[in-house]
This record gives sequence, structure tokens and C-alpha cells, in this order.
Amino acid sequence: MADIADIAHKADVALTGDMLIGSASVPAAGATMRALNPATGREIEPPFALGGAAEVDRAARLADEAFDSYNRTGLDERAAFLELIADRLDAVNGELAERTALETGLPAAQLSAEAAKAAGQFRQFADVVRQGRFRHATVDPAQPERQPRPRTDHRMQKIAIGPVAVFGASNFPISYSVAGGDTASALAAGAPVILKAHNAHPGSSELQARAIRSAVADSGLHEGVFSMVRGAGNEIGEALVDHPLIKAVTFTGSEAGGMALYRRAQLRPDPIPVFAEMTSVNPTFVLPSALAARGAEVGDGFAERMLVNVGQACLKPAILLAIDGPGYAGMREAAVARAGAMDARTMLTPGIHDAYERGARRLRDAGAASLVEGPEPRGTWEGRSRLLEVDGDRFLAEPALAGEVFGPSALLVRLTGMDQLLEVARSFRGQLSAAMHIDEPDHADAARLLPILERRTGRIVVNAFAHPQEVAHATIHGGPFPATTDSRFTSVGMTAIDRFLRPVTYQGFPDALLPEALSAGNPLGLWRLTDGYLSRD
Ligand code: NAP
Repeated sequence: MADIADIAHKADVALTGDMLIGSASVPAAGATMRALNPATGREIEPPFALGGAAEVDRAARLADEAFDSYNRTGLDERAAFLELIADRLDAVNGELAERTALETGLPAAQLSAEAAKAAGQFRQFADVVRQGRFRHATVDPAQPERQPRPRTDHRMQKIAIGPVAVFGASNFPISYSVAGGDTASALAAGAPVILKAHNAHPGSSELQARAIRSAVADSGLHEGVFSMVRGAGNEIGEALVDHPLIKAVTFTGSEAGGMALYRRAQLRPDPIPVFAEMTSVNPTFVLPSALAARGAEVGDGFAERMLVNVGQACLKPAILLAIDGPGYAGMREAAVARAGAMDARTMLTPGIHDAYERGARRLRDAGAASLVEGPEPRGTWEGRSRLLEVDGDRFLAEPALAGEVFGPSALLVRLTGMDQLLEVARSFRGQLSAAMHIDEPDHADAARLLPILERRTGRIVVNAFAHPQEVAHATIHGGPFPATTDSRFTSVGMTAIDRFLRPVTYQGFPDALLPEALSAGNPLGLWRLTDGYLSRD
């Protein structure tokens, strides 16, 4: 415990507890909150200011003021800004990991790697910006001779949608929070960001926000490009979604929270998109040949991934499905051994811990049998690993069994045959990912399963698990509802930028007024679609 106290002291030095609204540090006018160390149950200094609709309004006005100049920054200038954020995040890596560990109960070494990954995402988006392909520059030159009617010059590019409200997530407190992919992709698109900090890690949020804000100032950008607000209860989140100057929202969290914000945004006089990433059980199918050949290996790997981040991960493989037959018992034994050996570990917040316990009860009440529980927790908010099992008939009869339990628990589903496996696959709601473990003799069955999975998931993995996730150009972290509110987009990977872009056509423009990406002679050397063909002319 002594070393945790020392870390608290060290990390507190840099924290003021203010909200960061543009270049202003806004101290508490009224209520404050303190971070909670979930490992000890003790509050941690300093007090953090809580704001409401007034702070949201101030940040939104600044973001709106910043929009025109920021949206028009040159590609190199914007890329350099994103790289500076990455450098500033790297510069506070140790301090950030330590403070975040204190606020989340997650290991500092893991959080240091997460912070490095977050910095890496800003560099990846800098590369995307420099290439300029996100603009989708498209040129249909004038055809004055065309009959029966001449064609006028039409040019199209994508610009940022407007100021974006980003809700920081609780479970990956850096890479899905203040300095996460939502912020990186929105800033890459040219959209100012107003970040709603998650109250589970306020000190960590402040450190990340300070890194971003210092990069805004040192890049000579308008102060409104980035702000961070904080509040208690739903008021601040609702004010963000309602604010007329906010033009899009991103969210990672519960289905109830995501849908409340989504519905609210649709009731505005001018509805706006809410990109909410909410819930997924990431079903993992083991087909018969693979099961017979290496059931134990799959069972062990599944349980290992299920325990990552104390199971508090959107890509946690939560449901393992296989036909009872050769290899099934070995798969179950290996999964039981791995899950049963994990010590209980601190969960992110008391609320998430309590929801985990309720979720475990829900699975048992719905008819799942307990296979193993890990050792008894020693701390109040420690989550104990759990593996349960149910047969296919019961699973099909009880929709509650297919719901997410956020934490270190998973469900094995024992099936009677391929027909039942396909029927169960069809019963799943939208997912972020699904996995198939297959050997060559399974290919015909896999080909029957594949179209079912394609209709329900954003990513299909063969002979591996959704963890660890690559952040790259082909990455999709999305999927049909309820995995997300818009299956056409991803919240992770380079195409996450598309959420914050909208197309504008410039018709009959003199060259002097055209945006650079569309100018005659292609001065930026972009790949452009000219008369329907890609070229750099
Ligand atoms: P959450 O309750 O959905 O909250 C996420 C953020 O949205 C918080 O900042 C919260 O503000 C805000 N919010 C939620 N509902 C709102 C509403 N109706 N109006 C305005 N703001 C609202 O998620 P959480 O606190 O991170 O965790 C709770 C549960 O969510 C977990 O137990 C888990 O089941 C699920 N979860 C799932 C994932 C996933 O990736 N699948 C990730 C994280 C969490 P306040 O904190 O101020 O209420």
C-alpha cells in the first residue's frame, strides 16, 4: 500500500482539478468530486471541478469559433499538430500510467503500453491526414461541348462535420478516453472536440487533456479546438447532446447510456449522429475438426482472453460454442483450469463491480450451471473469474443468456449438432466481432456459418481471438445494433475518421476560390477521382 500512496503524492503534483475550456482553466464554482481508488476504497486528492450546461455552452461556442480556421488547416500543419499531441502524451507516459493505475486498479505497466498505443494512434492519423485521401477529392471537369446540355465543372471534397462531443470511456482509460481514437479521428477530420471526462479517472483525464491542450497552443491553433468538461449525473452529457453548436457525438459504454443519448439527439430540432459503441459478447465458434484436434488449446486461449483487463473489454470473448463430441471435454477442462486459477482482481468502479455481480446472477437464474469460480475476492470491488455452461436448447430459449456480463466471466454453450450451431448463430444480435476456430475439414461448415456472421458482426476472426486488436487501415470496430448505433462506421482504425466528415460539392468555381484539394493542377498531389477514375493529375 505504501508505494500506492507515494505514487498518489507524485502524480498529484501536476493536477489542479480544473476543467479545461479552451485556454482557460476553470476551477470549481460549486460542487467538486474526488477520484476513488477502487483497490483501497479511499478517495484521492485533489478535488475536481464539476460543471454543467454553462461550461458546455462556453466550450461549444469556442469550438464553433475555432471551426472555420481549424477545418481549413493545411494537411501538413494538421498532421504536425497530431504528432505534437503524440509527443506530449509520450512525455507524460510514466506519470499518466501511475495516476491512471491509482484511479482504475489496472496495472501501471499495462497502462503505460496503452498510453504509448494512444500516442501511436495520433501518429497514424497524422499519416492519414498527410496523404489527404480522407478528403475523397473528386473532380468532374466541365464539358462545354456535351450534348444535349453542356456539363458545368463539379468538384467534391469532404470537410469536417462540425464540433464533436466525445464521451470518454471507463474501461480503457486512455486509448478509449480523452486521448483515445475518437478524439484522434475527430481532430484528424478537422473537427474541434469537446471531451466529457469519465468520472472514474478524472486525474488521468486531466493529464491527457493537458497534453492535448499544450499541443493546441504550441501549434498556434484556436483555443477552441479542444476542451474538456466534467460533471455529475446526466446533466452535462445531456447538455452536450442538446447543444445546437455540437454536430456529432461519440460514446463508448453501456447500451442504456448509449441509447439514451442517441434518442435524445434524434429529438433535437436538428437531429445529429450519435456514434455509440455499446455491447458485444463476441461469440467464438469451434467447429468439429478443430475441436477434436486442439480443443484444449482453444479452451485455454479463450479463457486467457476472457480475463484480459479483468474482462472489462468490449472485445472480450464471452461465449464459447461447440458441438458436444471429441475434444469438447478437453476444451472445457482447459478453460476451467485457466479461469479457476485467476485471482480476483480490482474492477474499475464500484458500479461496474455491482453490475458484474448482477450479471452473474442473471446467467445463473436463466439456467446456466457454474463450472468454476476463481479464488474468493479479498477486496470489496474485486471481480472473481467465473465460467458457466448451458446447452443449446436452453440458450435458444433464454435471451438473457446472450447478454453481456461486463467482467471476468464467460459462458460455454454445448450444442447438439451443426444445425443447432447455425440456429444459435442466427439468434445473436449485432456484434463487434465473432471468431471461428476451424481446420480444413471444417471449411464446408464454416462456409455455411460465414454469411450468418457477416450479417451480424463487424469483424470475423479465424483461428484467433478478437484480442489483441490491430489499429490499422482495415480495422473495423463496429457492427450492427446493439454493438453500435450505426453499423456503417468504425470507432477504431483509420476509417474512424469517416464518422466526422461530410461531402460538399463546389460547382462552377473559379480556381482561386476552390479548396486546395480540388485546385486545377492538383497542387497537393492527392489521389483524386477525376471523371470517375483515380489519378494524381
Ligand atoms: P455508462 O454508464 O454507459 O457511462 C458512460 C458515460 O456516459 C459516462 O460519462 C456517463 O456519465 C455518461 N452517460 C451514461 N448515460 C447517460 C445519460 N443517460 N445521460 C447523460 N450521460 C450519460 O458506462 P460506464 O460508466 O463506463 O460503465 C457502466 C456499464 O457500461 C458497465 O458495467 C458495462 O456493462 C458497460 N460498458 C460497456 C463497455 C463496452 O465496451 N461494451 C465499455 C464500458 C462500459 P456519468 O458517469 O456521469 O453517469
